[in-house]
Amino acid sequence: MSSIAFIGLGNMGAPMALNLVKAGHHLTVYDLVPAAVRTLTDAGARAAASAHEAVDGAEVVITMLPASKHVESLYLEDDLLARIDPSKLVIDCSTIAPDSARKVAAAAQARGLAMVDAPVSGGTAGAAAGTLTFIVGGTDEALARARPVLEQMGKNIFHAGPSGAGQVAKICNNMLLGILMAGTSEALALGVANGLDPKVLSDIIAKSSGRNWATELYNPWPGVMPNVPASKDYAGGFGVDLMLKDLGLAAEAALAARAAVPLGELARNLYALHSQGGNGKLDFSSIVRLYGHKAP
Ligand code: NAD
Repeated sequence: MSSIAFIGLGNMGAPMALNLVKAGHHLTVYDLVPAAVRTLTDAGARAAASAHEAVDGAEVVITMLPASKHVESLYLEDDLLARIDPSKLVIDCSTIAPDSARKVAAAAQARGLAMVDAPVSGGTAGAAAGTLTFIVGGTDEALARARPVLEQMGKNIFHAGPSGAGQVAKICNNMLLGILMAGTSEALALGVANGLDPKVLSDIIAKSSGRNWATELYNPWPGVMPNVPASKDYAGGFGVDLMLKDLGLAAEAALAARAAVPLGELARNLYALHSQGGNGKLDFSSIVRLYGHKAP
C-alpha cells in the first residue's frame, strides 16, 4: 500500500480519495475548505495543514482542482514541485488547458519528477462507484507507475499521448457533453411544451436514436431519474461554471488549430448566459431552465 497525498476534495476529489482509503492506502489530504477535509478524516485519512505538508513523505501526489490557474499556482507559483522528492510520482486529475498541463509537466520533469495529466470522465456517481474513465497524457513509464493507483478509482484507463494529450481528449469529450446536455434539454422542453410527460419522452429517447449519456444516466428534467442533480435542485454534480470553463478550453483549442466548432461555441454561449443568470454553482444539467416557461 502506498502513501498518497490528495489535494482538492470537492465534488470529485472527495469520493475519489475515499476509494483510495477503502483500498487500504495511507492518505494525507488537504483542501482549502475544512468541511471537505473532515469527510476524509472521518474515513481514516490524515489531515495536513497545507499542501506542502501533505506531500511530505508521499510516494504519489494527486491533485483534483477546479482550473488551470489553481494547478499552476499550486505547483509553480507556490513551488509545490520543489517540496516533492524527485523519485515520486505526480498525477493531476483536474481538467485544465493542455498548455498548462504541458508547462507543469515540463517543470516537474526538470526536477526529475514523473508527472501525468489524468483528467476523468464519469461524473460524481462514477467517482463514488470507482468506475471513472481516466484519460492520460504522459510517458509510458509514468503511466505504468500511475496505473495501479488509477485502477482503484476507475474502470477504464486510456493513454491519449504525451503530456497534455489527456487534456485535449477530455476537452473534446466535454464539448460534446455540453452540446448533448443542451440538446437533450431542448428536446425535453419541446415535448413538454407540446403536452408530453417528460418521463415518458425520456424513456422513448433512451431507447431510440437520440439516446445519449444524459438520457441514460443524467436526465436534466427534475423527477425523471432519482439520485441525479436534477432531482436534488441541481445541487452537487458538475457545476455550470466548470462546464463553461471546459467549453472555453475547447474554443481556445479550436482557435489554436484553426478548427471549426460552431456547436461548441453555441453551447458555450448558452452556458455563459445561464451562468450570468446566477446559476454558475448549480449542476450543468440545470441548463434545461433556459428553455422557456414550460421548463422547471
Ligand atoms: P469542486 O469545485 O467541487 O472542487 C474543487 C476543490 O478544490 C474544492 O473543494 C476547493 O476548495 C479545492 N481547492 C481549490 N484550490 C485549492 C488549493 N490551492 N488547495 C487545496 N484545495 C483547493 O470541483 P469538482 O467538481 O470536484 O471538479 C474538479 C475538477 O474535475 C475540475 O477541473 C472539473 O472540471 C473536473 N471534473 C468534474 C466532474 C464533475 O462531475 N464534477 C467530472 C469530470 C471532471
